[in-house]
Amino acid sequence: MDTDQLPPTQKGRKHEISALALREFAGLRFDDEPLDPFALARYANLVVASFAEIQDLLSEATVKQLLEFGKDDWSGGAASHKLPDGRRLIILNPTHGKNRHNATLMEEVSHVFLGHKPSRLAIKNTNKEGKTIARDYRAEIEEEAYGTGAAALLPYTAIRRMAREGKTAAEIARHFKVSRALVEYRLKISRLWDLYKENVLQRPAR
Ligand SMILES: [Zn+2]
Repeated sequence: MDTDQLPPTQKGRKHEISALALREFAGLRFDDEPLDPFALARYANLVVASFAEIQDLLSEATVKQLLEFGKDDWSGGAASHKLPDGRRLIILNPTHGKNRHNATLMEEVSHVFLGHKPSRLAIKNTNKEGKTIARDYRAEIEEEAYGTGAAALLPYTAIRRMAREGKTAAEIARHFKVSRALVEYRLKISRLWDLYKENVLQRPAR
C-alpha cells in the first residue's frame, strides 16, 4: 500500500490497516462512504438490545444508577457471557445520541474483529530484574479497539481530503454520522491537525 495513504505514526498505520479491512468487509468501496456499525455488528455476532428490553431484568437502583446518576460514566457494554446461540449482547447507553452510539458500537465490533478476549483483564510481565510489572493489557486493547473503530468510521484519506477542501469538523461529523469530538480526535491522532488549522480554522473570512 502507498504509504501516503496511511497516517505517519506506527500505531496510526496499524489501526488504519485494520480499519480499512473492516470497511472492505462491510462492502464499502469509497473512503468517504459512511460506515454503519449496526450492519457490521451482525457479522461480528453482536446483538444490540435496546435498554428497554433489558430494563426489566435490572433492579430499580441499577436502572437509576445507569440512566440518572451515572449516565455519563458509561457509553455501552458487552455481556461477558455469550448467548446460547453464540452471539454476544451489547447494550448502548440510551441517554446518548446516535453519533455516540456509532462510535461505541464500532469499538465493540473492533474488539470482535481484532480477536480480543473479553475476559482477559491483565497480563503480568517480569522486567530484567525479575520484578513483576503489571502491564495494563486492558488499556492497550481498549486503545486498539477504539482507535481502529474510529479509523473505520473516519478514514485517514477521506478526512485529510476534506480538511484540504476546507470542511469543518462539524461538517465532516455530519457526513459520517459521528460526533464532532470524534472527528477532532481523528484529525489530531492522525497528525492532520496542522493541516486542518491552516485550511479551516485560520482561513481568511470569505
Ligand atoms: Zn472496549
